Amino acid sequence: MHFVVCVKQVPDTAEVRVDPKTNTLVREGVPSIINPYDAHAVEAAVQLKEIYGGKVTVICMGPPQAEEVLRRSISFGADEAILLSDRKFAGADTLATSLILTEGILKLHREQPVDLVLCGKQAIDGDTAQVGPGIAARLGWPQLTYVMKIESLDLDKKTIIVHRKLEGQREIVSATLPALLTVVKDINELRYASLPDLLRSVRFTPRIWSKDDLGLDESRIGLKGSPTAVRKIFPPPERPQGEMLKGTPREMARELVEKLVTTKIIADK
Ligand SMILES: Cc1cc2nc3c(=O)[nH]c(=O)nc-3n(C[C@H](O)[C@H](O)[C@H](O)COP(=O)(O)OP(=O)(O)OC[C@H]3O[C@@H](n4cnc5c(N)ncnc54)[C@H](O)[C@@H]3O)c2cc1C
Repeated sequence: MHFVVCVKQVPDTAEVRVDPKTNTLVREGVPSIINPYDAHAVEAAVQLKEIYGGKVTVICMGPPQAEEVLRRSISFGADEAILLSDRKFAGADTLATSLILTEGILKLHREQPVDLVLCGKQAIDGDTAQVGPGIAARLGWPQLTYVMKIESLDLDKKTIIVHRKLEGQREIVSATLPALLTVVKDINELRYASLPDLLRSVRFTPRIWSKDDLGLDESRIGLKGSPTAVRKIFPPPERPQGEMLKGTPREMARELVEKLVTTKIIADK
């Protein structure tokens, strides 16, 4: 089995601020992390490899420093890593990103047939949840989104059964392989890296593929290949501070009713 996992490097959202003057994300000095959903996708692939055998390859489109998330994935138990990196990729929207990742996956598929692609449900910075379905559509493979459990893989029949997390219910579906899954965090608990994987990750260097390695035309990648544009980004306006009432419960209830009447939220008797 050949499992391919798409991992994205994202800024640690706990640290991200928006510049109120320029309305852009302040990225300087913000630590980068592996997209949390993607860490669960890597863990899911490694667990499948442990049951069914095979190999896990992680793939990332990003600048040279995105090597770090690939090394992290190796420490989680992935075997191989590919960084899709080229200055011409900069400014890619989800259409161009899914194209570049698809071409990377197809190049891997030619080296060793891919059985399953795993993505996170969404990236915590771009937040569109479009890239996984975009790749599946381009590959023409079945897509199973919001996967919270992989029930089984049938290697002979080339089928997979998964549980999808829906609002208030779950759906059990099967598909033929090769297929693409997007996973939610419920799918597994992340394990600590083993010492051998940790040591291997420190020395690991991923293969780097450029636009020429993928045979991509400039008009279809980067800003040129991106029909969407971010017009504005801004934090929601700050809410005014709430008022704390003091006194006994009876006093506070009376004062609250008076305030609601004065502000005409409720009618006076
Ligand atoms: C005009 C425009 C310009 C932009 N310019 C830039 C820019 O210069 N730099 C920039 O960082 N962003 C830029 N973006 C944002 C960029 O489009 C998105 O970050 C990117 O396309 C992925 O979309 P997303 O973050 O919503 O991912 P989602 O669709 O939410 O991600 C779902 C899953 O897809 C996979 N995935 C997504 N992106 C990658 C990736 N790069 N590598 C591997 N796997 C991935 C992961 O498994 C992830 O969990 C730009 C967007 C627009 C519209």
